[in-house]
Amino acid sequence: MMKMEKYLQQVGDEIWFTEIDRDNLKINYRIKEVVYSETSPFQHIMILDSYDFGPMLVLDGAIQSTALDGYIYNEMITHIPLNIHPNPKNVLIIGGGDCGAAREVAKYPGIQRIDMVEIDEMVVKASKKYLKEVSGDLSDPRVNFIFKDGTAFVKEKRDYLYDVIIVDSSDPVGPAVKLFELEFYKDLYNNLHEDGLMVCQSESPFFYPEMMVNIQKRLKSIFPVVKLYMATVPTYPGGFWSFTLGSKKYREPNPEAFDKDTKYVNKGIIKSCFQLPNFVKDLLITD
Ligand code: SAM
Repeated sequence: MMKMEKYLQQVGDEIWFTEIDRDNLKINYRIKEVVYSETSPFQHIMILDSYDFGPMLVLDGAIQSTALDGYIYNEMITHIPLNIHPNPKNVLIIGGGDCGAAREVAKYPGIQRIDMVEIDEMVVKASKKYLKEVSGDLSDPRVNFIFKDGTAFVKEKRDYLYDVIIVDSSDPVGPAVKLFELEFYKDLYNNLHEDGLMVCQSESPFFYPEMMVNIQKRLKSIFPVVKLYMATVPTYPGGFWSFTLGSKKYREPNPEAFDKDTKYVNKGIIKSCFQLPNFVKDLLITD
């Protein structure tokens, strides 16, 4: 193998991208072309055109979203909380640079404000230009892009609160570490209405069970309702991915009310995603 740009290798006339999830797990993707590669003040950003997954957004060597399966994660992190809240009007997205979450939230005409707080403007620019399969065109005037650290944003005073907060973060490395800490979750609580709720991606139950448990513990120390749900995302290591909700009031989804045009989420998924396999149930904090 001949070494090329960081994370990429030339094998004969083929280019391969290697995602290193952990010491003993590396996943290889054959690449047609490096479409974009830049280093921002926060991270290394690539858009790679892959053979099987189409264009993919890669941050610091970790796949975030691909044309083939990006809709699964983005639909699951948005439509589940927006279905549980009966009348969301103000929504905050923290992270979400591929714009897929904002695109899904914009499907709700009753939502008046969509604040998207992303630390890295270069991720948004690259995704809008080279990953339209995920970002869409996002011309919706309700989406306010705010380029700053989400942990600083939720400490600021505002004259309005949110109904739903979606923490669409990268894995807890670099600038995303603070998005998994107790202090941040407390600030989210303070930014929510008295019946508001938040959701975050909470990693793989196979490979990072301790992280899933810690997120639950932290949220349980703040929110009266904490629930876990799952989806299958082929490009996330292990395939099976968890999301954790923290809610001040609402607990149950209302699948019959769901009427959006989606590729993964439907009424049945909204019901079934809360059904957990036994090994995941064993990771639930029950007290
Ligand atoms: N679906 C993806 C996944 O789980 O792999 C995550 C999507 S999104 C690309 C994650 C975004 O979080 C990135 O664009 C990154 O720049 C942003 N981010 C990381 N730390 C942040 C912070 N402290 N404040 C705001 N955005 C942050």
